[in-house]
Amino acid sequence: MTELRLAVLPGDGIGSEVIDAAIGVLRAAGELWDVRLELQTVDAGASRYSRSGAAYTEDDFNLCRQADAVLLGALGLPDVLHRDGTEAGPDLQFRLRFELDLYAGVRPIRRYASAPGPLAEPGLFEFTIVRENTEGLYASRGGGAAVGDKVCTDTLIITAAGVERICRFAFDWALAHQPSTGSASVTCVDKANVLRSYAFFRSGFDAVARNYEGRVNTSRVYVDAFCAQMVLQPTSIHVAVAENMFGDIISDLAAGIVGSLGLAPSGDIGERHAVFQPSHGSAPGITGKGVANPVAAILSAAMMLEWLTRRKDCEVLTRMAADIKQAVDQAISDPCSRTRDLGGSAGTKACSQGVIGRLKGPEQPVL
Ligand code: NAD
Repeated sequence: MTELRLAVLPGDGIGSEVIDAAIGVLRAAGELWDVRLELQTVDAGASRYSRSGAAYTEDDFNLCRQADAVLLGALGLPDVLHRDGTEAGPDLQFRLRFELDLYAGVRPIRRYASAPGPLAEPGLFEFTIVRENTEGLYASRGGGAAVGDKVCTDTLIITAAGVERICRFAFDWALAHQPSTGSASVTCVDKANVLRSYAFFRSGFDAVARNYEGRVNTSRVYVDAFCAQMVLQPTSIHVAVAENMFGDIISDLAAGIVGSLGLAPSGDIGERHAVFQPSHGSAPGITGKGVANPVAAILSAAMMLEWLTRRKDCEVLTRMAADIKQAVDQAISDPCSRTRDLGGSAGTKACSQGVIGRLKGPEQPVL
């Protein structure tokens, strides 16, 4: 039996609803695949900040650092703010990203036949956005300069070492996750035509790309044009790598073109630690209604199992992840277990039950 020690941060808004659903699926799959879960729940986020004046404690941070991996729902509520006007809820998330050096924000995007989304073009596609997580414009959080009430600045930070490692990560990801048709490729998404920092990012990308010549195709696209490419030619993208803020923004557009933020999982991955969470936020408008789509959280849990495979030296975890993903595929093809954002009639629980009911376990081969 494999044992996983997980820190679970339900967080704010729909965070606890989608995390409950994901944990239900993980537990059911764990029984089938003989994987035991030891869960330690951390109360962090905006609600905690409102109650106590702090979004998390030192013990919470240490618990996350010591866990095999962290599974997170959503942190933040739009009206729970620090004095500088930024949100207090995500404080722990930023600390985890920066102190545990979770430099790669991995956001797989997939268009499902049963949830085609707003695009007119009928083809299916899958691509992955790799977002640099520890530099860029967001590295300036809390460090910008406000001059009275007249001027405010934040600084975009790009280092040679930071660009090199995120680009290497993107190329290695492209090689390890080959596209179903065509060749592996990585697109550098930047604004090199306007800002030196992005020209620097692109030259770092070019230097890394030379090491992968003949194995991975490359392209360089300005972020504005890349937004249009995602909508008009999404099948032309395999892996895209971008600076922190650009990666954040293009990820939500990518989730939008496949139909819902509720379909987009993510992992914040470093060399020794990782946090997995749906790409969406706390969605205050639908909190408590039982309608949140749990698929992004469930797929984030599957990504976590894939990442833990090497750490725990346990191949079963990748097979368990594949089982969860095939069960999600099947569940959302049934309107009774597809949530309303995808045109179905299910609530959060019915959707996760639909996934649980379609798990196969090791007895039947997972295709
Ligand atoms: P959001 O992702 O919470 O919501 C955007 C839209 O998508 C809303 O219409 C919402 O109802 C819908 N939506 C999101 N998740 C859904 C799901 N699972 N099923 C169905 N519909 C879903 O983004 P926002 O409104 O910009 O942010 C709300 C709060 O969440 C803010 O406080 C923000 O800071 C926070 N946030 C946190 C994270 C995170 O924890 N990583 C990410 C993004 C936003």
